[in-house]
Amino acid sequence: MKIIMLGAPGAGKGTQAKMIADKYSLPHVSTGDIFRANLKEGTELGKKAKEYMDKGALVPDELTVEILLDRVAKDDCKNGYVLDGFPRTIPQAEVLDSELKKLGDAVDLAIDVEVPDENIVRRMSGRRACLKCGATYHVEYIPPKKEGICDDCGEPLVQRDDDKEETVKKRLSVYHEQTQPLIDYYTKKGILKTVDGTKDMKDVFADITAVIDAV
Ligand code: ADP
Ligand code: AMP
Repeated sequence: MKIIMLGAPGAGKGTQAKMIADKYSLPHVSTGDIFRANLKEGTELGKKAKEYMDKGALVPDELTVEILLDRVAKDDCKNGYVLDGFPRTIPQAEVLDSELKKLGDAVDLAIDVEVPDENIVRRMSGRRACLKCGATYHVEYIPPKKEGICDDCGEPLVQRDDDKEETVKKRLSVYHEQTQPLIDYYTKKGILKTVDGTKDMKDVFADITAVIDAV
């Protein structure tokens, strides 16, 4: 199954995508994680992406589409995947659709995790991330068992550079302008489902599994 996670930055896409990936044995593909891994390794792609990420802007479509298509062409994606943070623009969605169409395939489900802007800044300021395995925590809402350490792989957790309040506000406005139109795009295709992302993480997941199991 090919699932797309939609929602504002900080809505809980990554948190839920990881849980979906574990339950349904699908790879969790996050373009943000790919950029951050490149940044950590000091690659040219990482350096280029950082220029945009630090400003709260989107990385240009050409670059993003290329890394995404490379990733989903890998063997582990042949039975499906959960996309987290891609597509973020209509042109990105169109390229994905046309590439899948060439293979006689299509996206099965787009899940919009809805959280109002008021809740987002609080979520982002407390977010802590593991750059090794992509796990995400929140100092108040979803703390790790041991402070500052990833439960899954024991790496030290970090605060993302782009989770500063000013950058978060910019990312939210970019989301409304460039990404929110995707809700209409997938509604018209008849594959959009919306879940209430303000609930507790486990309750959001229960709603999501109900949606997936109904496909
Ligand atoms: P996204 O991938 O959409 O940017 P994340 O999954 O990283 O969002 O979640 C943003 C922050 O909110 C993280 O700190 C995460 O631990 C926390 N979070 C995720 N889901 C919930 C929830 N249902 N309730 C409270 N906090 C949550
Ligand atoms: P995320 O981890 O999904 O919050 O993404 C972090 C940042 O990476 C975003 O604010 C963008 O700068 C960049 N990014 C991630 N995915 C995309 C995408 N699909 N298109 C453009 N930029 C992206």
